[in-house]
Amino acid sequence: IQVEKVSFVDSVFSLAQLPVGDLPEIAFAGRSNVGKSSLLNCLLRRKNLVKVSARPGKTQSLNFYLVGDQLHLVDLPGYGFARVDKRLQAKWQELITAYLETRPNLRCVVLIIDLRHALKESDRMLAGWLQAQGIPWLPVYTKKDKLSRNQQQRQARLLDAALGVSPKDRLLFSSLSGEGRQELLERLETYLMS
Ligand code: GDP
Repeated sequence: IQVEKVSFVDSVFSLAQLPVGDLPEIAFAGRSNVGKSSLLNCLLRRKNLVKVSARPGKTQSLNFYLVGDQLHLVDLPGYGFARVDKRLQAKWQELITAYLETRPNLRCVVLIIDLRHALKESDRMLAGWLQAQGIPWLPVYTKKDKLSRNQQQRQARLLDAALGVSPKDRLLFSSLSGEGRQELLERLETYLMS
């Protein structure tokens, strides 16, 4: 995956607005504030391409980035922010669900989870739903630099058990140190080839 050439494509608010063509897409999902923007900026080696959100939970779109003329990275709106109006939340969910269910371009959903915390119900629900839909998904536990090595291992095991994944099927990540970056890029390559 060639991150030397990256550009913002579009903010999408409806299925009709989705980019045409058959470029493969990798979507990134996670609760608000989990570190998704930081992870994407780290992955793409950009400082502020993906805006680190000042106001979590405000109306958001599916944001498409073109990487190396080779694939689209799709930044999905963060979920699980309590202060968001219920109707608005339902509307986002409708768009995201429709996108995930119907998009032939989609190769994988990267599910970003904060390594420090127990699995949240919203994460469990999304993971279970992706699994049931047969959509490939990859858990990435981020903010690993905030924990000691022992704590990292302990937390990762708890999250593995809660998600029902084995250690080889997830990654630990730090946007601060870049740990896990190369591994994630390599893993994403395999989804592009399949
Ligand atoms: P988003 O809402 O999921 O896009 O989360 P952000 O990327 O905006 O990150 C939320 C907060 O966590 C910010 O203050 C980031 O600086 C911080 N953060 C994100 N990733 C990491 C990480 O890997 N390590 C550390 N130490 N802080 C992080």
